[in-house]
Formats: sequence, structure tokens, C-alpha cells
Amino acid sequence: MQWDEKDWEYRAEGGKHLVVVNHSLHKILRFIKVPVGVERNLNDERIQIERRLNYEKYAPLLSEFEIHTDSGELVFLSADFCDPLFARIDDDRPNARKLLEVPRGPRYAVLQDDFTQSNSSDSSFAIEIKPKCAYVQPNLRSCQFCLMQLEHLLDGRDVNSRCFYCSADFFSSDLSRKKFAFKNLLENPLKDLRFFKDGELIFSMDTLEYVGKSGNDRFHEKMDDLCGFTDALEKIIEDLCNSLGSREFFSDNQKRPFSDPFDPQRKRFKPLES
Ligand SMILES: [Zn+2]
Repeated sequence: MQWDEKDWEYRAEGGKHLVVVNHSLHKILRFIKVPVGVERNLNDERIQIERRLNYEKYAPLLSEFEIHTDSGELVFLSADFCDPLFARIDDDRPNARKLLEVPRGPRYAVLQDDFTQSNSSDSSFAIEIKPKCAYVQPNLRSCQFCLMQLEHLLDGRDVNSRCFYCSADFFSSDLSRKKFAFKNLLENPLKDLRFFKDGELIFSMDTLEYVGKSGNDRFHEKMDDLCGFTDALEKIIEDLCNSLGSREFFSDNQKRPFSDPFDPQRKRFKPLES
């Protein structure tokens, strides 16, 4: 690939991957991270990426609904591209993520369309949701995600992960459960929720790292400012849940299947119960 690394910028990263973006090409590159100082065999990297890309060819669920998808293509990038790129974007990375890095030298990566930017000149929001491990094993009442969260809490690995969010709620046809999942992820986005405005990351676990938990309240206000009307975030979430195919099963005077932690009077979330 004949690209100039200066045309690429840091976008975001999760537990396993780091993503850079090229705004003019509307493309992203996704690199695999490893613990700092660990060498990564290039052949292993290529095989791991190919395995994932092959899997995604057999799971084109969204394309069945005529939704544009792009599972990406494998690309090889020289050290001349990678080394100055990762040196340049290092300051953009959240400190909490720096236990892992993309090793120096040439790398394999996945090239994909950037779905956070609109192709038109109109301003746009993009919301990335990753409802992980939302399956329930036979004879269990909780989904795999909730069991893993509980395990992380009990062994002290991740004390920040305590919340009411259950990834299985996103797959429910009950509108209340979808909205409940969104509201809890907004309180604690984990690695599973990100908001972008015109390709720029405006809300995620990593943005909260800089501004603290009060960033939740400010995000509500920021969305009102960006959209030009009040309660913008709530309205966007309502529309999104509706378009994802849900309906209200319980009228307001009926008992809800769970207690909603959102306080509409104060327009913020109630603190978690201890
Ligand atoms: Zn669950």
C-alpha cells in the first residue's frame, strides 16, 4: 500500500485492537495489540486476521437486511509506515490502554470502511454498540456477559464494571429492556459503547477517563447543544431502539420487570445501590 502515514490519525482502541482513521479516504486500519515489549510473529498475525475475516464471510447477518457492511480486507504495512505512525499517535492514546501496544516493525492489519462518517456533506452521529457474550447457557438464568462481569468483580480484576447493563437486553423485543441497556451503558460505557460526531470520538470509556464520571451529565448537555434541541440523547436512543425493532410491552401503570435507575426529574442516573 502506498499511503502516507501522516494522513492517518488515532481513532480509538479496545482491549485487543487499535484503530487509526484516514478522513479523506473514509477508511480505518485495525491493528492487533500485544503486551508492551512482546514480539509478535508476523505469520501468526496474518493467520489470526485471516481466520477472523473468513469467519465474517460466513456470518453476513446484517447484509440479509440490506444494511451495508464491510468485514474488511487484510493489508500488509511496512515499518516505514507503521513505526512513525505509532510514535506520532502515542500521546493521543489513553494511559489506561498503554499496557498493550502495536509492536514496532511491519504489520498486518484490517482495512475497513469508516462507518462513523457520512458520505454526504450533512453532519452525522454514529453509535458503536458491542453487545458481547449475550447468550444464556442451558440451566442458567444469567447471560455469559453478566456471569463474566460478576467474576471480574469477585476476583477484584475490574471494580469499575459493576452496573445493571446486560448485553442480552439489546436482543430483546421489549423496548424497555433495550432502553435500559443503553442507559446503563451510558453510565458505564465499558468497552461496548462509543459515540462519534462526524468521525470524531465524543463519548466512550476513554473520554470519561479524562473528564471523570461527571462527564455523563455533560454529555447529555453536549448532545443538546450539538443537536439544537433538549433531551437529544434520550430522543436519539428512543429512535434507535424503535428502529432496531422493539415495542413497549408494559404500559406506564404496569409493573416494570426491573427498576429503572434513570431519574428523569434530575435528568441523570441515580447512583448504583451498594
Ligand atoms: Zn446478562
